[in-house]
Amino acid sequence: MNILVINTGSSSLKYQLFDMRSEKILAKGNCERIGIDGYVKHEPSNGKPILKDEISMPSHSEALNIVIQTLTSEKYGVINSLKEIHAIGHRVVHGGKKFSSSVLIDDEVMKGIVDCAKLAPLHIPANLMGIYACQKTIPDVPHVAVFDTAFHLSIPNYAHVYPIPYKYYEKYDIRRYGFHGTSHRYVSSKAIEFLKDKPGGLRIVTCHLGNGASLAAISDGKSVDTTMGATPLEGLPMGTRSGTIDPALVYVISEIEGSLPLSETLEILNKKSGVLGISGVSSDFRDIMNMAEFDLDEDRAVGEVEDIKDVERARLALSAFKYQVAKFIGAYIVALGGVDAIVFTAGVGENSPPIRRGICEWLCGFGIYLDEDKNGHAENDKITDITKAGSSASVLVIPTNEELVIARDTMEIVKNIS
Ligand code: ADP
Repeated sequence: MNILVINTGSSSLKYQLFDMRSEKILAKGNCERIGIDGYVKHEPSNGKPILKDEISMPSHSEALNIVIQTLTSEKYGVINSLKEIHAIGHRVVHGGKKFSSSVLIDDEVMKGIVDCAKLAPLHIPANLMGIYACQKTIPDVPHVAVFDTAFHLSIPNYAHVYPIPYKYYEKYDIRRYGFHGTSHRYVSSKAIEFLKDKPGGLRIVTCHLGNGASLAAISDGKSVDTTMGATPLEGLPMGTRSGTIDPALVYVISEIEGSLPLSETLEILNKKSGVLGISGVSSDFRDIMNMAEFDLDEDRAVGEVEDIKDVERARLALSAFKYQVAKFIGAYIVALGGVDAIVFTAGVGENSPPIRRGICEWLCGFGIYLDEDKNGHAENDKITDITKAGSSASVLVIPTNEELVIARDTMEIVKNIS
């Protein structure tokens, strides 16, 4: 069975086509700048050439048509016709209180997803555009919705309620929902498999550290707390998002900027804050690390770094990030009544030994240590145990695979209906 996984943003459509017999990716790609000028990248895994091209695509429907044409084309294709796509799995960012697991999309489910738009007004309309486009173009296959929030619906009420007037919770469903659920679910289940010799229900803190970043506290396979909240702005400082700050700063910043409208103030917190805001260098951790690693004590070529403050600010951004991650890990050790494993995943978590080390340095008070040598040799596409002998908890690097979770959930649901 071949399953197409679709992940739509407001101006992008990412896709992966899986052959579920082997869970191999047949092709993957991305349509970007939809409605602007249009750019397509398509990577087949059968040895055919990679396509990278500017192609106009005024809407998500046109983008999907390009995806289908490319997947079936002689030059770049991996299947002969649309008939070789047997089901479609859609990433849906918000499932509200209603969706605690993945579901087959029907009219009722569509209504439920539309209702979630009030909780995620920036994301749900884009997800809906993707679903509508696929239903129109590929109507005869099952479509499944997989929600970022679903895994976190198990968070108990004392951890998901906000201390604001209760009517917002009761009438308007405002509460902590959490995101990156497919990633936290995937890596925690991998950790449970990996640590199968450890007895009892494992207590795990999963650290999804990418452009977007969140932690989850997982007890016996269930999420009991997570750092993102009603929206993905809460929690850790991220590439461009502030994470948790004093909420009154929304007002203070608006005043400083000359009564800036609320939407623009939020734009500052969503797009200009986080490690980009502190460093002023970039939202990309590699850029910031390159800047931060500049050796202040060495003779430096004039002009190599424009202002020494850039180096200091880059270092400050990384220090603040590592500190906040460690601080929330500490909080989750409380939430879990101890911890058996810390799991690092996503772009930064999987690829950056110095960031993992910097976070773990804060955890020595809990007796948690990583092994320097193993930390430097975490392998791509594999679970790496980087625990130091004698550490009170395991420290693991586990590559995430959100698309595979979507494909597997889709497969499970389709199997049960046919
Ligand atoms: P998202 O899916 O949220 O866009 P990713 O999980 O792909 O993000 O992570 C992207 C981030 O990972 C970028 O900030 C990038 O710089 C960072 N990253 C990737 N490789 C490394 C590395 N070797 N060292 C540090 N950061 C890295």
